[in-house]
Amino acid sequence: MQAIGIFGGTFDPIHFGHLRLAEEMAEGLGLGRVLFIPAGQPPHRGAPRTAASHRLEMVRRAISGNPRFDADAREVERPRPSYTVDTLTALRAELGNDQPLWLLLGADAFLELPTWHEWRRLFDLANIAVAARPGAQQSDAMPDPLKSEVLQRQVADGSAAGPAGSVLWRATTPLDISATVIRDTLARHGSARYLLPDAVLDYIHEHQLYTHYEH
Ligand code: ATP
Repeated sequence: MQAIGIFGGTFDPIHFGHLRLAEEMAEGLGLGRVLFIPAGQPPHRGAPRTAASHRLEMVRRAISGNPRFDADAREVERPRPSYTVDTLTALRAELGNDQPLWLLLGADAFLELPTWHEWRRLFDLANIAVAARPGAQQSDAMPDPLKSEVLQRQVADGSAAGPAGSVLWRATTPLDISATVIRDTLARHGSARYLLPDAVLDYIHEHQLYTHYEH
């Protein structure tokens, strides 16, 4: 049974940092599918300024043509704040207990895990793959509760993992691209070309997104 990757984010907008992380994780972990799940109303940060429908459509355009990438609208369609633990619970119910799941996270997001709603339950529901900069292994910046969870769960490669419960650090190509910088650049009418797919940039221009963005 091929494992499935789950990649959440605000994707405001989606960019090559996100896409490359997902592609390298898919290849390295042998994922049959990666589900991109744009957050509706992220609970632990300010509400995204861009309508969820636009963020979802940008994800769809960015991944079209990649047969193993899919967009999943469940968080965008949910009126309540979207907690990852709820999304994973729903996916687990749909896919069954034997399906290996990998939650894909950038190292910055992983270090904040203890601030997430019912974060320890995430390990019961999925494996976690953390995209690390080459050589950066387990960061000393890890808070103690996270460190102790990770110590007992860390595996060196994906084949040692079951359906859930393992943590893997994987070096991925560092691409220092952030949605914040893209939004700022577009707000001052600068060029964001080559930071994100042309199809996404065309959509942004078509709908005049980010032109009135203020940080
Ligand atoms: P913002 O600048 O608005 O905070 P962002 O570019 O960091 O946005 P998010 O949607 O918040 O994007 O990130 C979703 C996930 O993608 C997180 O797990 C984050 O760590 C990861 N991520 C974001 N940018 C990169 C990047 N350049 N390289 C690797 N992972 C990234």
